[in-house]
Amino acid sequence: MEKGQLHKLQSFLSSKKNIVIVPHRNPDGDAMGSTLALCQYFNSKNHLATVVAPNEYPEFLHWLPGSKDVLLFDKQNKQAKRAIANSDIIFLLDFNALHRVGDDMEKTLEAYENDFALIDHHQQPEEIATYLYSDTSICSTAQMVYHFLEMLNDTESITKDIATCLYTGIMTDTGSFRFRSTTAETHRIVARLIEKGAENDKIHSNVYDSNSYNRLLLLGQALSNLKIFPAYKTAFITISEKEKKKFHYKKGDTEGVVNYALSLNDIVFAAIFIEDKEQKIIKISFRSKGDFSVNQFARNYFNGGGHDNAAGGKSDLTLEKTVAYFTSLLPNYTKELQNSYEE
Ligand code: 5GP
Ligand code: MN
Repeated sequence: MEKGQLHKLQSFLSSKKNIVIVPHRNPDGDAMGSTLALCQYFNSKNHLATVVAPNEYPEFLHWLPGSKDVLLFDKQNKQAKRAIANSDIIFLLDFNALHRVGDDMEKTLEAYENDFALIDHHQQPEEIATYLYSDTSICSTAQMVYHFLEMLNDTESITKDIATCLYTGIMTDTGSFRFRSTTAETHRIVARLIEKGAENDKIHSNVYDSNSYNRLLLLGQALSNLKIFPAYKTAFITISEKEKKKFHYKKGDTEGVVNYALSLNDIVFAAIFIEDKEQKIIKISFRSKGDFSVNQFARNYFNGGGHDNAAGGKSDLTLEKTVAYFTSLLPNYTKELQNSYEE
């Protein structure tokens, strides 16, 4: 964050404030970990902070400290709107454009009269915030919240619960510390979070060893739907609404499934297409290894975006037509896909 903005924000926060903290729609581990950490930090500083999430987040994150006080904009609409109306400032975490909260909440935020602060690591942030901390080189928004506390000279105030939330955000957004964005600094921060009380084994187990039987069966179905195009080093998975029903799909059940497609040898580009009857779209996740930018691909063709190696988007076509459109694009990228990852 630019120095002048930081000082202005610090002086604004020097008296008690009502603060709302917002993650993106369909919040993931980083979105929930970073918002809950910041919320607990502000509350420990005598502010009145509340996390207002656009909609429900996966069950494997419900154990996070502070989780029970989260307001869901879609389900607890009155309370959520009241919290927003009563707030002096809104922190937007882990997203770069207002539409990422979903249509209804976007309207409420567009009408908001006080200032926004934005902490985020996605590319090309919209100019919506008075206070902007954007850095696309950082692995997770949770790590940025840690740096934000460093800017405030206040990492001393990190409690076990705050450390647990930050650890969860960093762990989930780095694929358990394996992605390129995981730096020596990330590991130094994670070490400090463990010193503050984050229990790495428990956090890992809470997030990754909490599968229902049906979730594993859905994964089995997804894997049997896997298709590969060796000529383009590309693999993709589909999941239809019918398949979701069959295995009693719950929010979060398809999280991470796309990574199985990317785990194949000689594959550098992976996608998953998930039918969503409720939103009437096909929700898409893209992943890549090396230099092929899925952020650009998602922006160009699927109304989305994200990071160079992990991005998302959507399609209004049917599942079959979306897949046909996707495969028709691949020949345009033969060279880039062949050269994305030099061993
Ligand atoms: P995922 O595939 O796990 O949903 O998302 C991968 C990354 O892309 C995340 O950082 C997420 O915030 C971003 N992302 C997912 N869907 C969209 C989308 O529709 N638009 C944009 N701009 N970013 C997205
Ligand atoms: Mn993130």
